[in-house]
Amino acid sequence: MSDCIFCKIAAHEIPASIVLEDDEIIAFEDVNPQLPVHVLLIPKEHYANVGDAVPPELLGKLFSKVGEVARIKGVEESGYRIIANTGEDGRQTVHHLHVHVLGGAQMPIRMGPAD
Ligand code: AMP
Repeated sequence: MSDCIFCKIAAHEIPASIVLEDDEIIAFEDVNPQLPVHVLLIPKEHYANVGDAVPPELLGKLFSKVGEVARIKGVEESGYRIIANTGEDGRQTVHHLHVHVLGGAQMPIRMGPAD
């Protein structure tokens, strides 16, 4: 999609600090990290979110790269959290499917009761 910032990162049209990449997947540092390790993992092809008829093989490939990101970033042993914010109530702000990989410190975020 021409106006999608993550499509532009996937196409190397705008800069990003790339953690890993292959023909279908790219992972890069979040520009506004919420923890010492904060990487975004995306398919290069545009899908709005995890519910956007993403081919199962591609979803599997995306999630299979989480462990590699964790290894590269040195959080495989200490642990991490993966998050895929989805839609308005999920507070998704960039509407190109992405998985946050967060670690390097204890997670401050706790699930609480709904408002
Ligand atoms: P979400 O709220 O789940 O849609 O998360 C979108 C994430 O994209 C946020 O954590 C932003 O900091 C991050 N982000 C937005 N623009 C860029 C960019 N150009 N490079 C890297 N990360 C970005």
